[in-house]
Amino acid sequence: MTFFCNRTWNEARAALDRGAVMILPVGSTEAHGPHLPLATDVVISEEMSARATVKLSNRGIESYVLPPICYSVTEFSADFSGTISIRKETATALLRDICVSLYGQGARLVAISNSHLEPGHIDSINSAIADVQKATGRTVVFPDKRQRRWARQLTEEFRRGDCHAGCYETSLVMAARPDLVRERLRQSLEPVPISIAAKIREGARSFNEAGGVQAYFGDPRAASPEEGETTYEILSDMIVTAVLEGLIATASRGPA
Ligand SMILES: [Zn+2]
Repeated sequence: MTFFCNRTWNEARAALDRGAVMILPVGSTEAHGPHLPLATDVVISEEMSARATVKLSNRGIESYVLPPICYSVTEFSADFSGTISIRKETATALLRDICVSLYGQGARLVAISNSHLEPGHIDSINSAIADVQKATGRTVVFPDKRQRRWARQLTEEFRRGDCHAGCYETSLVMAARPDLVRERLRQSLEPVPISIAAKIREGARSFNEAGGVQAYFGDPRAASPEEGETTYEILSDMIVTAVLEGLIATASRGPA
């Protein structure tokens, strides 16, 4: 029931009129080690969005998960087959157009639920939000999990920055879609204790340059569905909090 694209157009109209909140999962099509699928970020973003809709519903707020963004700026993993990167301008325009379309139909609030952390990709989201603001005067909510406010609640590996297809992301896929994890391979992988975040700050432009020659960082072998469950609790709370704050801000500025 929470997937917006499973509604008919009349049902969509009624939901928009009731003031439903729209959550846009944003991921990528990108190499995530030998053990996780290209769709890893999409799986994680959709799952945290779906869980957020349940929590919002418990608070009496109707919300829907929009069809996800599966293509983004993914230059760091361009050396690995299957990764599909789009230009920053394309990514910005796509996000902008989706949000402008929804606000044009009277949407109460659009929230972005993102799992892909490449700096160029985050830039494309922030540019899109600025463009939506310019075009409509409306705000798109975007909790950025790299911000201290959210990051301090996440796992140690995430905070260290070895967080591409390592324990953090592998646990999240194991909790949501265990059928997509190459389990024997996962158990055979040696840890790659390199902070991709630090390497990026030092100037690395690809996973290979950063030392992630199999497109993963961190410790996939240490992952567990239990850790994934705990992290989804935090990530869905993050979306809920951002939506609630967005709704308060929207209410205080008066009707659109
Ligand atoms: Zn990822």
